[in-house]
Amino acid sequence: MQFDWDYAAGLLVNGDFWKAVGTVVELSVETWLLGIVFGFVLALARQSSNRALNRGAALYIWFFRSLPLLVLLIFVYNLPQVFPSTSVLLSNPYAAGLIALVLSESAYIAEIHRGGLLAVAKGQLEAGKALGIRYTGVQRLIVIPQALRVALPTLANEYITIVKLTSLVSVISLSEILLVGQQLYTQNFLVMETMLAVAFYYVLIVTVFSYLLRRLEQHLDVTRRQPKAIVDGPAQPAPARREAAPRQGDFALRVFGARKHYGQLEVLKGIDLDIRFGEVVSIIGPSGSGKTTLIRTLNGLEGLDRGQVELCGAPFLRGREEDGGSLGNRVHMEGIVQVGMVFQGFNLFPHKTVLENVILAPRHHGHASDTDLRASGLALLSKVGLREHAGKYPHQLSGGQQQRVAIARALAMRPQVMLFDEPTSALDPELVGDVLKVIEDLAREGMTMVIVTHEMKFAFQVSDRVVFMERGEIIQAGAPRELLDNRSERMGRFLKDVQLA
Ligand code: ADP
Ligand code: MG
Repeated sequence: MQFDWDYAAGLLVNGDFWKAVGTVVELSVETWLLGIVFGFVLALARQSSNRALNRGAALYIWFFRSLPLLVLLIFVYNLPQVFPSTSVLLSNPYAAGLIALVLSESAYIAEIHRGGLLAVAKGQLEAGKALGIRYTGVQRLIVIPQALRVALPTLANEYITIVKLTSLVSVISLSEILLVGQQLYTQNFLVMETMLAVAFYYVLIVTVFSYLLRRLEQHLDVTRRQPKAIVDGPAQPAPARREAAPRQGDFALRVFGARKHYGQLEVLKGIDLDIRFGEVVSIIGPSGSGKTTLIRTLNGLEGLDRGQVELCGAPFLRGREEDGGSLGNRVHMEGIVQVGMVFQGFNLFPHKTVLENVILAPRHHGHASDTDLRASGLALLSKVGLREHAGKYPHQLSGGQQQRVAIARALAMRPQVMLFDEPTSALDPELVGDVLKVIEDLAREGMTMVIVTHEMKFAFQVSDRVVFMERGEIIQAGAPRELLDNRSERMGRFLKDVQLA
């Protein structure tokens, strides 16, 4: 048995084969791209709290993953026998092949996307929401870019699977690489030579696309990025608080009878708290006393069971068990833009530079022109001492610097009130001072602030009022001096454990 090398080499410049390569590339790329789009919709539906959407997506994924592609191909291609009206589309083997491939691949890719979506930290969604960005905006600006980045290696792998699956389309007589080969060797019986050429073409396509996809992956990898150069625009003062907002009465925030359960555990047991405009209130207390829960209910990141919250004199949030239920998403999103939030874990957007983090929300809300937003963003960054870092990505900063960016990002929305949940607890001790200094400066400028903190010295120096919480209740509250002089036995014990100079 001879192997005809000359014949095999000649097949590498065979016009029919190269045409078939074109078909395979087109079919696989279209399948991949359409699969990514439909798969994403399926993955979102799968995660939705809407039962019908969720179940529908689960059913789709279950069915199309169970069905062998070959069966699906033959079924789709022959559908016109039952429904003659579909013959316009499906009698074309390319269209029938594409439809069958997309139906099947969307189910697989949906699960890949779901993995990507689950990898985006919950704090990212909360940071977006706290900046007043709604669901679709959060998905578009924050979640999708990050989820795609996570999913890309697996999506690239799926592309290679698709290239090879296209060989199945030969059963519905689409002239792809395998079919061209089969047609040749049934005439000349040179099976091995022909299949060597077939193998060559598949390996070629996979090699070229693996390279391209790896380049794309590197391009999207923020950890490889260099800081962006930032050109200074005209100097502009940092944006102040929004004076145009209605300021009815004396109170920025008022909480009435806030109650909340987690299962059996009553975490907030009827909290009343008033925050005056310009006042700085620190919330202290042992771990697990409900401080984080309380501050998160102040901007509605956590829903209340009972009670209500007023913002600048207007109804803002209401417990779901109150008469009429909660006030709804519209009132919530209209108010939340006036409340800035700084999280213990920073929650900066890792795929955006420092400056982009700061101006993302005001740009989304259309507060000003891009030039003005950049200028005021840079002014805010100067204010927190990070002007030179504007072009860096969050992972290129220390924790203390990241937290100062997070403060600038919240300030960029020109909020009426700033909420801080243990802003320095995640920091190394030597980085705490810089962050506290920024908060102190804000206090001096008259910013209204509610600060949950374990930094007792700071709390008693900076605050107008200190609130001591334990087991979901406010045990004692008052001006720092007054509170220290009249501390209850319980609070005395708590303060003895902490360093209070
Ligand atoms: P603190 O901030 O004062 O340490 P938290 O508000 O975080 O307290 O928590 C108060 C209590 O509520 C704790 O016992 C905690 O375990 C519980 N808790 C907090 N968040 C949740 C949650 N999402 N689900 C269930 N229990 C929670
Ligand atoms: Mg906490």
